[in-house]
Amino acid sequence: RMVNTHVKLYQYRRQAERQSMTDQLTGIANRRRYERYSAAKWREALRLQIPFSVCMFDIDHFKVYNDTFGHPAGDKAISAVARTAAAHMKPGVDFLARYGGEEFVMLSMGDSAGAIFARLKLIRQAVEDLHIPHNPAVSQWLTVSMGGVTVAPPTGCGYAFFLQVADAMLYDAKRFARNQVVWADEQLRQLCETGKKADPSKLLTCGL
Ligand code: GH3
Ligand code: MG
Ligand code: MG
Repeated sequence: RMVNTHVKLYQYRRQAERQSMTDQLTGIANRRRYERYSAAKWREALRLQIPFSVCMFDIDHFKVYNDTFGHPAGDKAISAVARTAAAHMKPGVDFLARYGGEEFVMLSMGDSAGAIFARLKLIRQAVEDLHIPHNPAVSQWLTVSMGGVTVAPPTGCGYAFFLQVADAMLYDAKRFARNQVVWADEQLRQLCETGKKADPSKLLTCGL
């Protein structure tokens, strides 16, 4: 009986811990879990000199979506995007979290910029292919914009710097008409999805 009580307490604590690290709406990792995980993984990548990628992505014109279809429909859309992205994660390699609101963050170790860029394009396309109707005034379907960076080998610049680069790439993806992936490769050269490239003279204007 004593043992049973201890087991139950242990299981209860484990469950509480898991819940405090999980986003209630989508079931993926929450911001708290992301903060811990990213710090640990960045240290690991630095120590082992493994390529490290960070991607930020964000639903396009989501304020319009909410205003048009209502908050509950917005919540469903956020869940659908999370499910779609989660289905594309490589177990044990990729990490996906809800960063906040309609923003997500993905971390990945080991892939080159080219490989991760290709993978993220698939995820972006998969979200578009859900064919969730958006407000036609802004877009036919619900889409996401993605921005990120691959660091190889990881340097002492610090995680915060690369997060800023990822954010700048996301900003550019939004600026270049949304529904696209914009990436900074190992040399901080910008990779954009074909056919949607903006005027090259406007690239990397984000103060890098
Ligand atoms: P952009 O394409 O530039 O990203 O435009 P946007 O309208 O998506 O950007 P903005 O950041 O202005 O709007 C985000 C909106 O997301 C505003 C907020 O009401 C909504 N939002 C944030 N969290 C949630 C949520 O948990 N559920 C729902 N339904 N809406 C949310
Ligand atoms: Mg946003
Ligand atoms: Mg948005």
